[in-house]
Amino acid sequence: MKKQQTLVLIKPDGLKKSLTGNILTKLSETRLRIVGAKVVCVNEELAKKHYQHLTDKPFFEELKNYIMGKIHGKEYQRVLALVYQGENAITKVRELAGATNPEEAVSTSIRGAYGRITTKGVYENVIHTSGTLTEAEREIKLWFRPEEITTNLYPIVKTKDKIKWETSYDNVKL
Ligand code: UDP
Ligand code: MG
Repeated sequence: MKKQQTLVLIKPDGLKKSLTGNILTKLSETRLRIVGAKVVCVNEELAKKHYQHLTDKPFFEELKNYIMGKIHGKEYQRVLALVYQGENAITKVRELAGATNPEEAVSTSIRGAYGRITTKGVYENVIHTSGTLTEAEREIKLWFRPEEITTNLYPIVKTKDKIKWETSYDNVKL
């Protein structure tokens, strides 16, 4: 199996509950390599683009508020974004994360152990992980610039003053 990469986000509730250490320790069981990491304040544009596949859902507004940290107080308006690389990275990380609905997730998985459903019905499930190769590529290119990744993941173009991903899949209408 070829090397894959996957985007992991520790969402605002994960940071608020001081779960970063636990989650990174758990993910280290995969023996995957971290090739990018940063703390990000998520603005509306990034939230919309990240969750573009859910724009039509009734919970979309609440979901945006969640990933932007709006329900967690000003000091928690941030997420920790990481890129993991290695064999079968997408499945390995998703297995440890657990099912989307924290009440259905295996209780020893990250979402099963730490997630909850809010009173407004949003699955506050602590962690995001890419679901497919296409999703991973789109999401990594959305969250990271080429020079923030320690290895060559995807083709880039260099202009006089900028390095950009050669292709992006940023097709959401804002
Ligand atoms: N979500 C939700 N209710 C749903 C489906 C999704 O609150 O019925 C939220 C949840 O936080 C989830 C995110 O929207 O992690 C993205 O949904 P997706 O279907 O992509 O699930 P994931 O890939 O995160 O498991
Ligand atoms: Mg998803």
